[in-house]
Amino acid sequence: MTPRRVTVVGAGVIGLSVAHELARAGDRVTVVADRTAADSVSAVAAAVWFPYRAGASPSMPRWLARSLIRFAELAEDPGTGVDLREGTVVERAPGADRSWTAAVPAAREALPAELPPGALSGVRATVPVITGSQYLPWLAARCAALGVGFSPRTVPAVDELAGSADLVVVAAGLRSGELLDDDSLFPVRGQVVRVANPGITDWLTDDEHPEGLTYVVARRADVVCGGVAEVGSWELAVDPAVEASILARTAALVPALAGQPVLSRAVGLRPGRESIRLEHVPGDAVPVIACYGHGGAGVTLSWGCAEAVADLAGAGLAGAG
Ligand SMILES: Cc1cc2nc3c(=O)[nH]c(=O)nc-3n(C[C@H](O)[C@H](O)[C@H](O)COP(=O)(O)OP(=O)(O)OC[C@H]3O[C@@H](n4cnc5c(N)ncnc54)[C@H](O)[C@@H]3O)c2cc1C
Repeated sequence: MTPRRVTVVGAGVIGLSVAHELARAGDRVTVVADRTAADSVSAVAAAVWFPYRAGASPSMPRWLARSLIRFAELAEDPGTGVDLREGTVVERAPGADRSWTAAVPAAREALPAELPPGALSGVRATVPVITGSQYLPWLAARCAALGVGFSPRTVPAVDELAGSADLVVVAAGLRSGELLDDDSLFPVRGQVVRVANPGITDWLTDDEHPEGLTYVVARRADVVCGGVAEVGSWELAVDPAVEASILARTAALVPALAGQPVLSRAVGLRPGRESIRLEHVPGDAVPVIACYGHGGAGVTLSWGCAEAVADLAGAGLAGAG
């Protein structure tokens, strides 16, 4: 049987993961994108496995659990850029949503000594930390090894792909809505500053910090310090005042960071949506599956969502002869 031709629009972590799963299932996949993963929002991600601002979805527990399993497998190979690292989710108000811990069996209550001043409670957990500068090229190379082709260009409209594809997957992040007439996406601006790693391995997230969302993610060679979550802001320039505030807040939480040299800085627009869109989309000249709107958790959910797209695509094939 001739393999099905699938075009995936988007080469961020979602597009690449989807392409990987479809190629693995036997499809002939082409990724069309006007930015490489290194130039996409995916490269700005911290990226710690945690469901930050990903909206509500009945499938969330499965996507989280499947991604965690896949990343844990990848962490066995240092070449992937994935490490399993222990860290703390700081809680400053009662009733924090701990549903994510269902996917992390060894998660435990943080001891008072493990929490910063002002914290009410917290969770200690070992989860994947993904160094994008290593992981995204690794993933693209894995795709290429599975026969995925890459076409660097802008797709103006999905119907333009009808002649060359039997199925299109729209995984174009924040710009997906332009292709599917969906105005429900909005930017959630983030800003990070990466400093030299003084030898720490833990991560820490403090969403309810009184001065704003704060996190510290220790990677191999650097530490990602963040951040902000500005809903509706399209500003791509680094804000020096925001950076100074991030450096002050993170050094207060993790004193070893004080004075560490800044290695790089970045801004990214998270693809915000009330809930992730992962479904067949009718009405185009070619069958379409949407996979976008992952907010602040696109890396976290990437494998679970990619598997779900492959399942949907497989179900769509059933009975097609
Ligand atoms: C500061 C910050 C910190 C974050 N931290 C984390 C974290 O710790 N953990 C986590 O899981 N997530 C984190 N995120 C969120 C994560 O980065 C995103 O959810 C994820 O990158 C979205 O991936 P994507 O592939 O959907 O989109 P993108 O990475 O934006 O990729 C979109 C792709 O689509 C292509 N494209 C778009 N439109 C077209 C078109 N018309 N034609 C051709 N190509 C097109 C682009 O060229 C690009 O290749 C963070 C984000 C930010 C900004």
